Amino acid sequence: MISVRAALDTVLASVARVGPEQISIAQACGRVLARALVANRTVPPFDNCAMDGFAVRAADVAAATPTAPVRLRLLETVPAGSLASHAVVPGTAVQVMTGSAVPAGADAVVRVEDTQVGDGWVAVFRAPRPGEHIRRAGEDLRDGEVVWPAGRLLRPADIGVLASLGMPSITVFRRPRVSVLATGNELVSLGEPIEGRKIANSNAYALAAAVREAGGEACLLGIVPDDLESSLRPFEAALECSDVVLSTGGVSMGNFDLVRQVLARLGVQELFWKVRQKPGKPLSFGTRGRTLVFALPGNPVSALVCFYLYVRPALLSVSGAKQIFSPVVEGEAEEPIEGSEGLTDFVRCQLRVHAGRFSLRSSGSQSSGVLRSLSLADALAILPESCAQVEAGTAIRALWLAAPPVQEPPF
Ligand code: AMP
Ligand code: MG
Repeated sequence: MISVRAALDTVLASVARVGPEQISIAQACGRVLARALVANRTVPPFDNCAMDGFAVRAADVAAATPTAPVRLRLLETVPAGSLASHAVVPGTAVQVMTGSAVPAGADAVVRVEDTQVGDGWVAVFRAPRPGEHIRRAGEDLRDGEVVWPAGRLLRPADIGVLASLGMPSITVFRRPRVSVLATGNELVSLGEPIEGRKIANSNAYALAAAVREAGGEACLLGIVPDDLESSLRPFEAALECSDVVLSTGGVSMGNFDLVRQVLARLGVQELFWKVRQKPGKPLSFGTRGRTLVFALPGNPVSALVCFYLYVRPALLSVSGAKQIFSPVVEGEAEEPIEGSEGLTDFVRCQLRVHAGRFSLRSSGSQSSGVLRSLSLADALAILPESCAQVEAGTAIRALWLAAPPVQEPPF
């Protein structure tokens, strides 16, 4: 048995990144940038006005006050998107809108609120600083500058930045293909009756959802019986078409736990089996060529916890992402939390936030068959091997799974 850290290091050291593809920026949110993005133009492309008002020469109105306004001759009105036909010369002003190009000769904008317009003139009641309410060309992005390095997970504002550069498409890493196989004679597919001593194949659906959430393309390959010969073909099919293979069940000490044998027969090199952790101890991990193979335990909680601990960072790394880990938060245990001696425990917990500080308590039964307590958990409290119990009031680290419920509006 190896430690959780050694298991994670082994997994990450085995990662081979997928190749790039070109996609529309409309599809790019949540995808990983495959090349550093270099700005191909300046944004904004020209000096423009940040307020509706009047473009002036600051020196002309330096003495303006509410009681002693300065009158300027009004040359014209420029809507955003148009160019002024006059330059602002001493004693004059051009009416501008937010986004209008700053007319030649002007070096400040006075807000409409600080003026009064008459027929062919404008009175200015406040002296602007030179440059006031002017957005300079290149203030956002400069031509040739590196906006982001490769490996960035693209977010909505990033899509806006790409569009502001006029880029219709972008090179991202393709989504990793992840095959999911469930093993077990007791399993039935969704849609079939759950009768006798059968149970639903819940793992495949939970894992496929987790794969998609992590940016992978999930491919459900169905249920494989606990039988070596009939397992070979579906496992081979999975290995052939995937960047990552996930199986569940058949990997612990039972008489029908044959997955490791199947994988060995198909040329998968096992790098570890069994991790000093709870839940998820029987995890097996190996590779065949560039394909990562996770034989996850069958218990629904064990399978998903192993996903969060090992598969998710691996999948993000295969996707080319630089940021592959979930945050760890520290909070106070609201009650004693039980672990086990010699194993790293991942305890399903609810997080509560008060005054910006976290506290944790168990989200329910910690049995590895009870999936509901994982669905209610916001975090997995981490009890290291040397720690078998945490007293109430102790600070404890926890792996973030989901945002905790919040009752109050933020402002
Ligand atoms: P195993 O690791 O195959 O011994 O399975 C451990 C436990 O997980 C057993 O109770 C199985 O019935 C259950 N189990 C295995 N595979 C699945 C699955 N795909 N969906 C739900 N439960 C499963
Ligand atoms: Mg089984």
